[in-house]
Amino acid sequence: MLERLGCTCEGCDRQLDANTPELSFERDGYLRHAYECPCRTVTITVARR
Ligand SMILES: [Zn+2]
Repeated sequence: MLERLGCTCEGCDRQLDANTPELSFERDGYLRHAYECPCRTVTITVARR
């Protein structure tokens, strides 16, 4: 599995702080983190538990 320490906004390529997701939730065995960028784009990352 690919460990992503950082992620970028899908809207403006801004670097998002992977340690402070706006929202975390689990669904179908995958942990998802949602990050809201100042440009108002929400980027979601998925990680398998
Ligand atoms: Zn952005």
